[in-house]
Amino acid sequence: MTYEELCEKNRRYLWNPFTQMKEYLADEPVIIESGRGCRLRDVKGNEYWDGVSSVWLNVHGHRVSELDVAIREQLNSIAHSTLLGMGSVPAILLAEKLISIAPSGLRKVFFSDSGAEAVEIALKMAFQYWRNQGVEGKTTFVTMGQAYHGDTVGAVSVGSIDLFHQVYAPLLFPSLKVPFPNLYRNPYGESGEDVVNGSLHAVEELFQKQGDQIAAMIVEPVQGAGGMVPMPPGYLRALRNLCSSYRILLIVDEVATGFGRTGKMFACEHDGVTPDILTVAKGITGGYLPVAATLTTDEIYNAFYADYEEFKTLYHGHSYTGNQLGCAVALANLKLFEQSDLVAEVERKAAKLHHYLEPIRSLAHVGDVRQSGLMVGVELVQDKVTKDPFPLQERIGSRVARRCRDLGMLVRPLTDVMVFMPPLAAKLEDLKEMTAILHQAIAEVTEAQVRVVES
Ligand SMILES: *Cc1c(COP(=O)(O)O)cnc(C)c1O
Repeated sequence: MTYEELCEKNRRYLWNPFTQMKEYLADEPVIIESGRGCRLRDVKGNEYWDGVSSVWLNVHGHRVSELDVAIREQLNSIAHSTLLGMGSVPAILLAEKLISIAPSGLRKVFFSDSGAEAVEIALKMAFQYWRNQGVEGKTTFVTMGQAYHGDTVGAVSVGSIDLFHQVYAPLLFPSLKVPFPNLYRNPYGESGEDVVNGSLHAVEELFQKQGDQIAAMIVEPVQGAGGMVPMPPGYLRALRNLCSSYRILLIVDEVATGFGRTGKMFACEHDGVTPDILTVAKGITGGYLPVAATLTTDEIYNAFYADYEEFKTLYHGHSYTGNQLGCAVALANLKLFEQSDLVAEVERKAAKLHHYLEPIRSLAHVGDVRQSGLMVGVELVQDKVTKDPFPLQERIGSRVARRCRDLGMLVRPLTDVMVFMPPLAAKLEDLKEMTAILHQAIAEVTEAQVRVVES
């Protein structure tokens, strides 16, 4: 089938997610045919770096023989059977494995198929935990400014990125919002200490006033879709303490940060925190198949553990939950983590990457470069001193991404924040080449931009 025929069929039949189809179809869509390592190849034979790990999923690269084999071997037994009221070998073994690597105190695994579902389950679990114990009134959730937890209606209800979420506002359940401690755009003053204290003060004030209405607080240790913004060190620890003292459950969404991305297996470990509920997805299968999980404590599990007629069951499940092929490849993925000591490797490579990013930091229109392990956001601004953004209609981020594509790397920006999230297995020389492309694209597009504005 030719490229033109595929484009035509895409136009006729396929509606791509999070995509303005008018723009997509007008600009020679990339249609991927194959991949190997950190590279993707399209049907025209062009090759690209997978600069965002196929939107934050990929770990060991594409076509990793151990992972390919794990799926083939599982196929010799069965592709799928349900977890509703019965078990399966790979799901049980994966649950055991996840508990062995998760922050200590997490004891039970509830599977699903996507990060948004893992979040929905976390919300229902937290909500019902209080109901099952006869605690009335703890029915609301606290979330942070610029939060992103997925695209289903429950997950959007605890999201707060206006561009994605505003249109659905009348459809959502209300949640309480507190500001995220963003060190670059800090509403509380100049220093890191100001932002931490200011933000924690807002949280505590809310807990004091409305704690008896709050079921749980949900947070991302590094805000992903909100612009790749890490929490300052110690902040998650402080939240953990506040939640405990006000009897509020802490849900940590590690769908983006889990499985080594930030230089620890889970980002919670940077602060030595165990949440009451942890959500994971993306990297769990190495970027191969859709598997997600919601992990929790015995304390929460036991609030649901009762005689049938007490009706304390967690009434939630999806047809493909605990899919055997997915669980089998997840197990192989986690085995590879151990064999290649990947988490320590990420920490080591992240330090090098910090240096490779230096030239980008000094570009005229780069306001901030934020890095947590191999998770990087480069915020483009019109004016470095005032931090004024480019006008939205300039679509500066999309244009830099388009230039990256011409230069041989696929990335997807978050408005004006360039995301760089290579597969964790990327070699140092790969990281060097990819950052060089990013540098060139940002320089060319933003500096040409200024000439246009000034003339
Ligand atoms: C991607 C993401 C989700 C949603 O996961 P899907 O698998 O796309 O549904 C939820 N939370 C965070 C923090 C994410 O980055």
